[in-house]
Amino acid sequence: MSDRYQAVLLFGMPGAGKGTQGVLLSNIPGFFHMSTGDMFRTLDHHSEIGKTFDEYSSRGELVPDELTVKMWQQYVHAQTVLSLYKPHSDLLVLDGIPRTVEQTKLMNEHIDVRGIIHLVAANPEEMVTRLQKRAIEQKRADDAKIDVIRNRLEVYERETRPVLDQFDANLVHEVDAIGTPAEVLGGILRVLAPIQASAHNTVAQ
Ligand code: ADP
Repeated sequence: MSDRYQAVLLFGMPGAGKGTQGVLLSNIPGFFHMSTGDMFRTLDHHSEIGKTFDEYSSRGELVPDELTVKMWQQYVHAQTVLSLYKPHSDLLVLDGIPRTVEQTKLMNEHIDVRGIIHLVAANPEEMVTRLQKRAIEQKRADDAKIDVIRNRLEVYERETRPVLDQFDANLVHEVDAIGTPAEVLGGILRVLAPIQASAHNTVAQ
């Protein structure tokens, strides 16, 4: 019996479609999606933490690890208090965290990772095009400049990709990120549906 949150990770380079898929999954009973990018973007831009976020994200850099994990903990706790996330019956779908090896270590005592969806694209340049399209659609400053996009992809390779090596290879499932949202969702659900079913059976009652 574990009192850690039963979680799955949505993993992949910026633009791979984690956010789109997370929202689709959150419409299915028993999945609770949380994105740290969304969490940071809802902050008041005049607050200290909001300013810190703007400072890092506008350069395509990551927010410092301790601060990120602390905010994540408070955010998850708030969702449980509001009964939006029910740890005993929902599978937590984490999008955008852990994003560094250090975050992985800090989160280890809080989450029990049941599986990792690694969204992969044969042609990473396709991700750059997606990000530029998103910049126009969602008015996101970090997507607008090509050098910021390139920096985020470099940060991903250098700091985030090594997170995968922290987990048992059996937990990592590659899913093709290219296709319609429905096609990609199909690939993800083939992996997550059985994990969700078994997590319900083993989560502490
Ligand atoms: P993307 O996946 O397209 O890079 P996100 O919406 O996930 O975009 O994140 C936007 C920004 O929020 C990141 O560039 C980073 O500055 C910050 N951020 C999100 N998650 C984390 C995290 N786990 N650790 C540090 N910074 C983060």
